[in-house]
Amino acid sequence: MLKIDLKGAVAVIKQEKARLVAVQAPEGLKPRLASIMEEIEEKSGARAFAFLDPCFGACDAADERAKALGADLLLHFGHSQLLAKHALQTIYLPLRHGLDEKKLAVLAEKAGRLLKEKGIERAALCGTVQFLPFLPALKKMLEKNKIAAFVGKGKNTLNGQVLGCNYSAVKSVERKAGAVLFLGDGLFHPLGISFCTEKPVFLLDPLQGEAKMLAGERGLFLRKRIAAIELAKQANSVAVWASSKRGQRRMRLALQLKKKAEAAGKKALVFVSDFINPDYLLGVQADAIVCTACPRIALDDSASYKKPVLNPSEFLIALGEKKLEEYCFEELLGE
Ligand code: SF4
Repeated sequence: MLKIDLKGAVAVIKQEKARLVAVQAPEGLKPRLASIMEEIEEKSGARAFAFLDPCFGACDAADERAKALGADLLLHFGHSQLLAKHALQTIYLPLRHGLDEKKLAVLAEKAGRLLKEKGIERAALCGTVQFLPFLPALKKMLEKNKIAAFVGKGKNTLNGQVLGCNYSAVKSVERKAGAVLFLGDGLFHPLGISFCTEKPVFLLDPLQGEAKMLAGERGLFLRKRIAAIELAKQANSVAVWASSKRGQRRMRLALQLKKKAEAAGKKALVFVSDFINPDYLLGVQADAIVCTACPRIALDDSASYKKPVLNPSEFLIALGEKKLEEYCFEELLGE
């Protein structure tokens, strides 16, 4: 269960004398939106409203929309700050998992054993925002077990934090380490890490209590992406799809890709939407889609699309402008 503490936010709302507060939260928190707004209204005296649009990351801060609607302040739940500037005061409330120290110790022990089996004595630590508060404790536990551990500093991220589009924290310390340890769940981020470093990647899943080394998953993932790249090579027409979201706007890149596709003899048109939804493509004629928005759309959601969906760097591989050996996850870095 993710912990929500509104004390700090209420104090800022009172201090800033905000009268109307906008609330933005990821899908998983929707059932708790009503109680969040009620608590804000009751404890701060301000009025609140919540956005219902899906929100997948801090790249999608609704500060501009909140300002247009007359809000004095935006509370953005579930993510840490990524964007440098905001149209109005924005408070980020990244949520943390309630992880038991004993479970973390068991996980650290398992990870230490795996590392020792591979003869690795130095590790870079990273994780998703919900698990970041546990990295210092994990570091101590590993060090007790004679594994030197390092937490890197990324660009526009918290110490040790990885995002689907930002692995700079790992890159900042990978040279010191023989392996990268990821604290979190799911395969997406460990795969992203594996493409930004040559060091072995270990997954420490606190929810399942499991530690393992990433192995065949990387090759399997890459084979699927190569299949999409091959289809894009054959494509006669391409839809370049850009998002108007705050942290995903890459219009210049979309126009550059259109130009490159045309130079390669393909017909290419640029389409824009805020939310990227497969249904929006109904009626759009194109053999392949190049999406300049969140890289997870092409990598995670490709099954929802009838045509191959590629990230810009994958499309450059299809056009022969980049080598497959250089494959990596698209980095947006909050720009
Ligand atoms: S663009 Fe980056 S921060 Fe935004 S949803 Fe995608 S991976 Fe997350």
